[in-house]
Parts: sequence; structure tokens; C-alpha cells
Amino acid sequence: MPDPNWPAVADETVRHLQALIRLDTTNPPGSELVAAEYIAGVLRAEDLEPLVLESGPGRGNVVARLKGSGEAPPILLYGHTDVVPAEPAHWTHPPFAADIADGFLWGRGALDMKGTVAQQLMVFMLLKRMGLPLRRDVILAATADEEVNGEDGFGLAWLVKHHPDLLKAEFGLTELGGYNLDFAGKTVYPIQVAEKGTCWLKVRARGRPCHGSMPHRDNAVVHLARAVDRLATRGLPYHLCAAADGFLDAASAAVGGPLGNALHLLKSPLGAEQALQGPLKEHDLNPFFVAMLHNTATPTGLAAGYKTNVIPGEAEVTIDGRTLPGFDTAAFLAELKAVMGEELEYEVTMESPPLETRHDTRLFALMADTLRRHDPQAQVLPYMMSGATDAKYMARLGVPSYGFAPVQMPRGMEFPSLFHAHDERVPVAGLAWGVQVLFEVVKAHCTEQLFG
Ligand SMILES: [Zn+2]
Repeated sequence: MPDPNWPAVADETVRHLQALIRLDTTNPPGSELVAAEYIAGVLRAEDLEPLVLESGPGRGNVVARLKGSGEAPPILLYGHTDVVPAEPAHWTHPPFAADIADGFLWGRGALDMKGTVAQQLMVFMLLKRMGLPLRRDVILAATADEEVNGEDGFGLAWLVKHHPDLLKAEFGLTELGGYNLDFAGKTVYPIQVAEKGTCWLKVRARGRPCHGSMPHRDNAVVHLARAVDRLATRGLPYHLCAAADGFLDAASAAVGGPLGNALHLLKSPLGAEQALQGPLKEHDLNPFFVAMLHNTATPTGLAAGYKTNVIPGEAEVTIDGRTLPGFDTAAFLAELKAVMGEELEYEVTMESPPLETRHDTRLFALMADTLRRHDPQAQVLPYMMSGATDAKYMARLGVPSYGFAPVQMPRGMEFPSLFHAHDERVPVAGLAWGVQVLFEVVKAHCTEQLFG
């Protein structure tokens, strides 16, 4: 089987990415149907039969499937076609022009994530064109409304609710991972394997209302202030989830030396206390390490009182809570109550569960090996992020995801710094590099002999 003509594949990927960027899918209002129709048109020209699924006025998703022999379960490549707003005045090149200059393709969505959508489209078409003997189906989904509505939106949440059978797969590959970062002078490639959950809440203290000139011991403002102080001083207990364990093993081996030792210490509760108060205390990533090893509860708002001379009957703190894999809301609240106090009232205002995908899989090893083959410097790290992506909707179908959207960034330029930023752009060479990496992973995953 001859290899694809990679320079031609690079040009074709760039052309599709330019076309997608020029379709303004700023959300709100989204208007992603035009992007879904563009992708469907490209696929139809390859004799494929994509489904365009309209989810609202101007909103739409596209799903396509390459049939395999069915010996193994399907793999899903998925991404969102909406983008966050751009302020053209701050851009070097207009955000929807898709100019190519200085080795970059400039435009809103170049990284988040039309660049990945174009790569996935390209990989999907290459598999079809080469007529490879696929042992499993490959599903491609480009969906709406990731940036705004989520749960009640027109994108993946809608698709999972209304057309779950189109998406069922063993694994999904999507955004956030597979790009290089500089970590202590080493080239690391995170692959996202976990996401923290969310538990937003209000915690209320009650006391006896009274005139402010007659202080007493049952003051709601004081009760609440003490509880917030206990939370800030003591924090929540240490936990090591599988994603953090894998990250710390790989990261400590990658960097070595005193920093590697300090990272290794984070693998036990006592070691973590020493390291976070000692060698890692001033490290830029200290908050990241803390978040990786604990459920967190951050006070972000306070409300109490209405008149200087009145002791109010209640006081309230708003808390942004984030939960580790393995914790549900009840278990998180139990930890929080143990620190802040059982006597307070806890009202959950928003929650979404944490996610964790095993990283001891053949597919993870394939991604890591392929990255190393294409970048001999690459140190691959399983990684947990503290925010949330569309992967949580796939998890509802029982489909675990990896964040794997490979792009090689030029040295000194970091992928996350361009996310949602002015002058979002993707290096043309790095995008083409990523198409090849993604193709090789998917091809091997779908064609290799299965063991056991
Ligand atoms: Zn995104």
C-alpha cells in the first residue's frame, strides 16, 4: 500500500481549514449548519453518505461512517465547528479571512478547533481513498454549540440525546492534547485522559438577627467567615487518581533531576505536603498540582447584611467546586462539610461529573508511540484538565474520550496561549505534521491484528 502523498494532503487540509474558517460560526449565534453542509459536500464528492442533522434554526451537525468488518468496535473522531467571538481590531490578520502568512494559517478556530475538524475530515477521506481493510467502523462527527449552550444546546448534547446510535464507539478522539509544550526544558505532549467535574454551590450560615450595637455570639457573618477561613487554611484531603498517577510517573521521568524528584514526591500524601510547601511552593504550576491532587472548593463570592447597624440572620458564600474522578457530589459535600461545618446549609447550583479514561490501553500506547516516532524528543504525558469539554456528553453514552488533536507548535509558542486569543493561528507545517500523526494512529488502530 503506497503512502499518501503528504505534501498534497497538507495542501488539501489547509484548503478545507481555510474554507471552514471563512464560514463565520461565531457562537452566539453559532450558525454552524453552513459548516456541516460544507463538510457533507466534501464527503459526498468522495462517494460517502454523510448525515446532516439540523438541531435548530441555522444550527446543525454532520455525522459520517466508514464501514469496517465489525471485528472490533468503532472509533469516533469528533469536534465542534462553532468558535468564540473575535474582535477584528486586535488581530494582525482578519479573523475570518484565513490568511496564510509567516508560516501560519490565521483565523478564529485555527486551533479551537476547526484545525482539528479539518484534520479529522482529511484522515477519514484518506482511509476511504486507500481502501484499507478496516476491522472497525470509523465515525466522523462535526458538531455545533460547544462554546455556549452545552447541556441545552444544539451540538453534541443534542446529538447524544436524539441520535445516540450514530455515535456509539469504543473510544472517541477530540480536542486538547497531542501538541507539544515546553516543560522544564523538555518537549512534552499531553494527551487528555481525564476532566475534573464541577460542583458549584452556595454555603449559608444562619444566626440570630439583632441590633448591631448589641453584639452576641450567634452572628451569621462571623460563623461564615470562620468557615471560609477553615477552608482556606486546611483545604480538602489529598487523593491520587489514575490520571494524576500516570502524569506524575511520566513527568518525573521526563524532567529528572531535583524537579523530577519533587514531582515523584507528589505521589503520596505526606510527600505532596512536603513538596507543595517546599520545592514546588513557588513553581508556576503549583496551582495545577494542587488541583490535580485534591477536590477543590474556591470561595468566589460573599453576601451578607443590608444595614450597618443590623446583624443579619444569614450570610452566604459562593463556591466554585471541582471534583476528581471517582467523586460524586455527595462524596465531595462530605469532604467540604468536614472542613466548613455540618451546621451550615449547602445548596448545589450546578454539577457535572468528572471523567476519566484509562491510559493503559493499546490506543493510548499507539498515540504515544506515533508521537515519539514523529518527534524523537517527545515525552508523552497522560493529563487531566480542570475544565470541561464535550467529552462529558460522550461519556453519557459510555464512550470514553482522549484529547488527541496533534499539532506541532514552533519552539517558544504554546498552544494554550492562543486558545480563544487574539491572533489565533496554526503553523501550516505543524498542522500537516498532525494529520500524518493522526492518520497513522487511526490507521494502525483500525487495521492491526487484534490480540486477546
Ligand atoms: Zn474547543
